[in-house]
Amino acid sequence: MADAGGLERVIERGRAGDPRALARLISLVENGTGELRPIMKALAPHTGRARVVGLTGAPGVGKSTVTAALVAAYRERGLRVGVLAVDPTSPFTGGALLGDRVRMQDHATDPEVFIRSMASRGHLGGLSRATPQALRVLDAAGFGVVLVETVGVGQAEVAVASVADTTLVIAAPGMGDAVQAAKAGILEIADVFVVNKSDKPGAQETVRDLRTMAGMARRGEGDWKPPIVTTAAVRGEGIAELVRRSGEHWAWLDSSGEREVRRRARAREEISAIAVAELRERAGGLPGDTRLDVLAGKVADGEIDPFAAADEIVAAAVAARG
Ligand code: GDP
Repeated sequence: MADAGGLERVIERGRAGDPRALARLISLVENGTGELRPIMKALAPHTGRARVVGLTGAPGVGKSTVTAALVAAYRERGLRVGVLAVDPTSPFTGGALLGDRVRMQDHATDPEVFIRSMASRGHLGGLSRATPQALRVLDAAGFGVVLVETVGVGQAEVAVASVADTTLVIAAPGMGDAVQAAKAGILEIADVFVVNKSDKPGAQETVRDLRTMAGMARRGEGDWKPPIVTTAAVRGEGIAELVRRSGEHWAWLDSSGEREVRRRARAREEISAIAVAELRERAGGLPGDTRLDVLAGKVADGEIDPFAAADEIVAAAVAARG
């Protein structure tokens, strides 16, 4: 970025929904460069409106297909739609992944739809560390709904719930998903269960399995009871019902006060993750700073204990803030 005025213009154009400016802003927040802070500062007053819907489930259950169908459904309802596909296995960012995906090409020329893929860079949990920031960019640009699709298994599947208002857990018949889901702790994060590929044999069994297992998940009085929606996303079947059920969850978030609770919990997570990352970076020391090495030697030799050494590093890191 050439100068502050240039950055201001990009932020302004991004807020107006210009796709190139949005792509640029997300790249800047993803790279965590010096522009990250001024961008976040400028956007903060304009955030807090977008509805974030997370989609998760094992590879092959139809996440991308459901995402594409939801984009079409929300567009029909007049909403501008953002899509973030977070891929923990891919080193590529910037839409290379999704650009190749035929299903999304229907929306590629729609100026009211913004699609972006992000790599996770090995962040614990499988979701990119930059995902909350990218969400803020799209939120401030006035997208009514942002779909976050995780391309991944295990931790990545569960982590999506930490950024979403409504989490859709997708399963498909004949993949033993329900059992896997129970193992991975994915049942607890579901706000809506989706049994996709309902055109295939075994869909009703999957619904039954999920119903049994969802019944076992611990939920209290007054808690949201996640409904099970069956879809055949390739044919667009069940998508209107999915939109309706997700909408009911959104309404419940408001009426129960849970939306505020979740947003605050998310902000807390974000703040501490940033603080810890900052500390870790500074504790590593500036080039030529041998403090950590010296302390490591002392701890290894039993001269001091690791807690005393860590205190020293934390104190030095805090003092080093310019
Ligand atoms: P993802 O890996 O979870 O994103 O799954 P995809 O959306 O890439 O879908 C995996 C495969 O399942 C693709 O070949 C899709 O065409 C197919 N598929 C997706 N939805 C359905 C469906 O409702 N019915 C059937 N029969 N196939 C589907």
